[in-house]
Amino acid sequence: MTAVTHHRDPLPWETEGVDRRDFVKVVTAAAVAVGIPFTAAEQMAEAAVAKKLKPSVVWLHFQECTGCTESLLRTSHPALSTLILDLVSLDYHETLLAAAGHQAEKCLEDTMKAHEGKYVLVIEGAIPVKEDGIYCKIGGRTALELANTVAAKAGAIIAIGSCASWGGIPSADPNPTGATGAPEVLKGKTVVTIPGCPANPYNLLGVVLQFATFGTLPALDELGRPKFAYGRTIHEHCPRRAHFDAGRFVQVFGDAGHREGWCLYKTGCKGPATHANCSVQHFGEVTDAWPIGIGHPCFGCTEKSLAFRAPLHSTVDIERPTPPDTYPPIAAPQGGISPLATGVAGALVGAGVAAGFMASRKMGAEPPAGGGPGGPEKEG
Ligand code: SF4
Repeated sequence: MTAVTHHRDPLPWETEGVDRRDFVKVVTAAAVAVGIPFTAAEQMAEAAVAKKLKPSVVWLHFQECTGCTESLLRTSHPALSTLILDLVSLDYHETLLAAAGHQAEKCLEDTMKAHEGKYVLVIEGAIPVKEDGIYCKIGGRTALELANTVAAKAGAIIAIGSCASWGGIPSADPNPTGATGAPEVLKGKTVVTIPGCPANPYNLLGVVLQFATFGTLPALDELGRPKFAYGRTIHEHCPRRAHFDAGRFVQVFGDAGHREGWCLYKTGCKGPATHANCSVQHFGEVTDAWPIGIGHPCFGCTEKSLAFRAPLHSTVDIERPTPPDTYPPIAAPQGGISPLATGVAGALVGAGVAAGFMASRKMGAEPPAGGGPGGPEKEG
């Protein structure tokens, strides 16, 4: 039974206006992004093109806004949604399902039976656990029961979005339903988390491709996040980083610095403490279509300790404050200095600047004079 409205044949470039080269390019890029060597990535792309990769996917929706699915479906240039939907056999998805009621439930059962131990379970949305999970039911079963039942026979489990990864908005204080993430419910199982509000579809594509081609999962951090996407902070590759290093900060929204595209740290940007690849892998295929790109501070949606918990415009501690490369770390006397000594002195100066910066920030004072992070450059 075909239960999903999406039709997989013919190939995307034959019907959707997706160029074949774009298709290979996106698949290769996603493969390289997960850390697969370029030649293997090319093989992966070719295999995808040859339609050899079709892992069965069961997609469950729990407490969420469907934003992650919407984000996936709204991609374009090329239609990433088309690419993903052509690479996988999306056998059960409550939003895209043509079937309803008993037909839909049968579709889920049939898929689990036919692909036992091999299908990819994607969970979108938080799982409420209070009162035995009665706050979210589908087909008479709680989300808690469904997640456990479907995960028991899955080959891989992916929690997409912040809600599924660690609770997201539904888990915000006072969390009346006891909403939590899939890893908490499925303890003992490997759950790949792809947090984000919404999650970036490229990150999902990378994980699914690797699993489909090699039967493996990418390297994960302690929170189950793929390191290829969450190994660094947004701050490390932020296009406004040069302004941060030079001490050019937006003070209030709409000021001259804001109009000039300066650093948003003082307006509450959580980029320095947020691990995600938003600054290098934009959303919606549109350049700069991400919060910092359009002038809003990052609100830390991939971090459980920040999003929907920390006040929107509070500042975060800087993990690794560094003086900008372009500034000499020390005024070395003419005549030379050993590289080792320069390094040590640079580290000390860096630490001093960092300490001064943190101290000034915590005391609510103006940043220290003399450049470096938090330097006193004026607006205008
Ligand atoms: S504080 Fe925010 S806006 Fe400023 S450089 Fe870091 S990530 Fe970018």
